[in-house]
Formats: sequence, structure tokens, C-alpha cells
Amino acid sequence: MKSHVLHRNSLTPPPRAVSGDGIYITDAQGKRYLDACGGAAVSCLGHSDPAVRAAMHAQIDQIAYAHSGFFSSDAMEELADDLVAHAPEGIAKAYFVSGGSEAIEASLKMARQYFLEIGQPDRKYVIARRQSYHGNTLGALSVGGNMWRRQQFEPLLINASHIAPCYAYRDQLAGETDVAYGLRVANELEAAILELGAGSVAAFVAEPVVGATSGAVAPVPGYFKRIREICDQYGVLLILDEVMCGMGRTGTLHAIEQEGISGDLQTIAKGLGAGYQPIGAVLVSQKIDDAIASGSGFFQHGHTYQGHATACAAALAAQRTIRERDLLTNVVKQGELLADGLHDRFGQHPFVGDIRGRGLFRGVELVADRETKEVFDPARKINAKIKKAAFARGLMAYPMGGTIDGVRGDHVLFAPPFIVTEDDVAKIIDLFELAMNNVFTAEGLS
Ligand code: PMP
Repeated sequence: MKSHVLHRNSLTPPPRAVSGDGIYITDAQGKRYLDACGGAAVSCLGHSDPAVRAAMHAQIDQIAYAHSGFFSSDAMEELADDLVAHAPEGIAKAYFVSGGSEAIEASLKMARQYFLEIGQPDRKYVIARRQSYHGNTLGALSVGGNMWRRQQFEPLLINASHIAPCYAYRDQLAGETDVAYGLRVANELEAAILELGAGSVAAFVAEPVVGATSGAVAPVPGYFKRIREICDQYGVLLILDEVMCGMGRTGTLHAIEQEGISGDLQTIAKGLGAGYQPIGAVLVSQKIDDAIASGSGFFQHGHTYQGHATACAAALAAQRTIRERDLLTNVVKQGELLADGLHDRFGQHPFVGDIRGRGLFRGVELVADRETKEVFDPARKINAKIKKAAFARGLMAYPMGGTIDGVRGDHVLFAPPFIVTEDDVAKIIDLFELAMNNVFTAEGLS
């Protein structure tokens, strides 16, 4: 049947999802798929959560939407109260948007406006990391280090500098301790600030646990402490992008809690609304809120759907459900089972170089050679083939790769809903193994 949707892949439209139950999605042919990646680390409560659905119905019955230029709503106020009450230290406000890229755009503009408010108009540069993804709108794409996504849009992007990621599997030197490695790569930030001119850098942006470019790469101990120190020393704002790794995904509500620091701005999305509604937010620290409130009193930004009441109601119900059902305990427990299972099954696999991550955010890096860590020829499209083979067997796993500059190698990301059971985890690993065997056999590599 001809589709008039401009799909991501115009040659092969995907099957139509017609229903969801728990961690499963059913398509129009009646085939069921186990969602082992929450789409893109979004669906943290599965696809049929009764509390979130009820909250959305109740909100729609009252009022679905009222423009934020005219009204606030109970849902938006209560969601902000809830987020600030559970936020990292120093966070005072929540600014609502409709997704991750919008959250990054808003945080970049807020950083710039902050410096105007405090009389430092020269601060305009943003530093970020290679092997990072911050979204697909032009500002977010500019700070992201994914060259494959950037390439054709380079002429439209704003200036941003990129330093090394914290990616121990690839970049830690032989004999170098974790701490020494973390300091070495964090210090690249200081060098970049000095090169651009200490008074001209506005912000540094980083994902606490890297998601969409390298599959759940957590920092080494001490890395983010040193980053925080450098930002403080040079008056640079720290923007933490927790769009993918946040809202419980790594076992703590915020991934950065595990690093013992907090950011000046923090973006969240995906798990915030658990996929029931499109919503994201920027968590704003007291000093930035104060500067804007006592300065122009007005953040020069805005979107039509910001603070959408139904989206806020869904997110509030999702966050309350996660707490009431103590689901972060399950994230930690099932996350360990998933990690153990992946290690048991693939720890010695000839084409698995690294298995990593935190909580229910786990990545598998595929390599052509375990010893040299040589990547597969990108033309082989190993990660895409694994996605396809897994999907054919009813498993959703999130592939990524590219091997162009900022992205090295093939990765598969697992980010299942927080409600998974031990049996579900075992099934994910079994289906993944079948998909891996299919692909490596077909490639003549087994
Ligand atoms: N930041 C990070 C860390 C992300 O993983 C993503 C999405 N994968 C984004 C930003 C962009 O979010 P969205 O797709 O909702 O615009």
C-alpha cells in the first residue's frame, strides 16, 4: 500500500504499530515485538501504563492545552514542583519544551542570555565533545559531535568546539589508571577554553552517560568532578544533557548523581513523559534563574506547545508511578542481570569488544578484532543488519555506528522499560544472540 508519510526510510516504510501491552508492541499483522530499547530509551513504563493513561484522560477531560503565554496549569506547576524537589543540588526551576533537541536549544540560548544579563556579552562559544549526540535541530546538531549526522549541514551550523569524549575502552592508554585517564581528557576542556579565550566561552555541554553515538559509555571516576572544577574556575556554564541517560535510566533519577556534581543547566526528555506524550525540560539552576529574573525578567525564547498540559500530566503521572512502584530498584536489579547475561553470553564473543553501561542502559560494542579493537568496515553496516535481524525475530534493539570521525564502530544499545522481569531479560539476551548469529553467519564471519 502506498504511504504518503515521508518516513525516515522512504524505500521501506516500517510496519504499523497498532497496540501496546507492557513491554510489547503489536503490529498490524499481529506480530509482537519485545521493546528492549524503549524505542530510543523513551518508553520506560512500557506501552500500556494505566496510571499515565488515566492521568492523560483526566487532563484532557478538564483542558487539554492552554497557551503558556496566557496560562499556567496545575499539571505544569505540579510537574515543576516534583522535578525541582527531586533535582540535583542547585536546581531551582524547570522550563518545559516538547523534546530533547528543543531542550538543548533552550539551554544554549539560556546560557547566552545569562551572560548578557550579568554583563559578560563576550561569552558566546560553546564547547562539546566528539562522539556525542545532542539532537537534530541546527543548534543541537552544531554542538553534537556526530559527523555523520552533521556532514551535509555543516554550512548551516553555528561555531562549536569539540574535545575528546571520556571513552575509556577506546582511548585509555595502556597502564594509565582510570583517574589519570579521566583527568587527561577532562583537562582538554581547560586547553580548549584557554585557546578560545577564557572570557569568551559560555558553556560546555556533555552527556553524563553517552547514549546515541556510542551505546551507554559511562565516565571514569573523577572525570566530571574535574570538568566541574574547570567550569567553575573559568566561569563557564556546565550543561548536562540527560535527555537519554536521565530520569532513572541508569539506576538513579539523574545520571549525574553518580558523579557527585551538578550542572548549571540540565536537559531531560525521553523518560520524562515515558513516551506517552512528547515532553522535555531544562532544569535551571538558581543562579541562572536569579540572573534572568533580576535582569530582563524574561527568557527570550518560547514554543507554542511548551508546558502542554496533557504532556505535563502524563509526565507527572509517569514520575509518580516510577517512585510509587519503586521502579529504580528494579532498574538496578534487572540492569545487573542484563549486564551479567550479556557478559556470560558475549564476553568471549569474537566480535564483541566491550559490554558496558549502568542500570537499564547497556551497550555492546562490536569489533572486527578484539585484540586490536579494529572496527568493521562501515560499508558492512553490521549494526543495521543486527537491528534488522533482531526486529525480524521480534526484538527491538537500538543500533548505531558510522565510523566517521566522531563516531567509531558499531554499537547496540539496550534500554528496556523499567518494568522488565528476569524472564524478559533472559528473552532479550536469547533473541539478541539469535540475531547476532544470523548476521555473523550471513557475513561469513562465524
Ligand atoms: N540529547 C541526547 C543525549 C539524545 O540522546 C537525544 C535523542 N536521541 C537528543 C538530545 C535529541 O532529542 P529529540 O530526539 O527528542 O529531539
